[in-house]
Amino acid sequence: MKPIYLDNNATTAVAPEVLDEMLPYLRDLYGNPSSMHTFGGQLGGRIREARAQVAALLGAEPEEIIFTSCGTESDNTAIMSALEIYPGKRHVITTRVEHPAVYNFCKHLARKGYRITYVPVDSKGRLNMDAFNKALDDDIAVVSIMYANNETGVVFPIEEIGTLLRERGVLFHTDAVQAAGKIPINTKTLPVDMLSLSGHKLHAPKGVGVLYVRKGTRFYPYIIGGHQEQGRRAGTENIASIIALGKACVLAGKNLETEAAYLSKLRDKLEAALLLDCPDARVNGDTEHRLPNTTNISFEYVEGEAILLKLDEFGVCASSGSACTSGSLEPSHVLRAMGVPFTAMHGSIRFSLSRYNTDEEMNRVIEVLPPIIKELRSLSPYGREKLVAEKISQCKTSST
Ligand code: PLP
Repeated sequence: MKPIYLDNNATTAVAPEVLDEMLPYLRDLYGNPSSMHTFGGQLGGRIREARAQVAALLGAEPEEIIFTSCGTESDNTAIMSALEIYPGKRHVITTRVEHPAVYNFCKHLARKGYRITYVPVDSKGRLNMDAFNKALDDDIAVVSIMYANNETGVVFPIEEIGTLLRERGVLFHTDAVQAAGKIPINTKTLPVDMLSLSGHKLHAPKGVGVLYVRKGTRFYPYIIGGHQEQGRRAGTENIASIIALGKACVLAGKNLETEAAYLSKLRDKLEAALLLDCPDARVNGDTEHRLPNTTNISFEYVEGEAILLKLDEFGVCASSGSACTSGSLEPSHVLRAMGVPFTAMHGSIRFSLSRYNTDEEMNRVIEVLPPIIKELRSLSPYGREKLVAEKISQCKTSST
């Protein structure tokens, strides 16, 4: 049975067109682009083409694109570069809801003696701009704030933040791993200095990413060795994946608006039906500024893991937090930062869609999930508590 895959913020299927494009470079054209012979050397042209394709998706120049191994490497590289460039500056500003690629890296930096400000968010996951403004000082090496949140899909006001930082001459990195290919990004007008993206979130394979570095931005490499990527990221190029990412960016860019409209229609249908059919369900996050493919819904008084296991029996794949935190029973640091109540935090499920999802699939989830929630509530201690509370209130209202 084909799964109903609604976990596309964790990873996406490699698009068939992307796979076709990359396979020759795994099978036959396996040369090293740094080689002197034609067999390897001819690949340089294909890397240049892929670089231009990625640049086009971001409104960037090809030379502003550095290929990396993943979003995490891009994020780490951006922050480390800033710290190397400004050795006298000891303050890093980020947010309380970043992906671990930034959040845990900043915790690591704190242990090394850097001062980290984690800007808080409100109950809808929106950035507290007052707290952000108050954190600004003359000791900042870099500000790293995500474009869109992987768990809730909430989109931050990157343009506003970048404008403020540019006025102060502060280096700005944004983790756009979830945003790239889902919403328009134009670095020509967007005031960011560095931006990360990851191939496997936009239908390219895992193991390839990009760090955009604006022309003129001082940069220090994180991975040091050979002269690849103009000395900005050493290591023999992952040529097949780089070519795949180029193709994936072409596909994403070509259909960005129609795909966003398609995804938000499916997502909104799913969300509305689940809120209607499941009592005590709520959406986590600002629904006005959100990625078109994501909804994070809390089903109060039930454990998210139990919901996932039941959904899995029906072939439905979703997530109870970010891919990196699932597997532990720690509640999500994102939902905690938003102050989501305990009973709702534990029953949160993220559905994240892709171009390959269909209306029939939404109908199936709408059919199977409400009975799952009902059944789990009747079994769980929180559910029983809730049912008892409901019974008491029913008795009260019927006796008045
Ligand atoms: N940043 C965000 C917002 C993400 O969602 C992810 C992956 O989930 C990453 C960074 C890490 O990307 P990668 O898995 O390519 O290292």
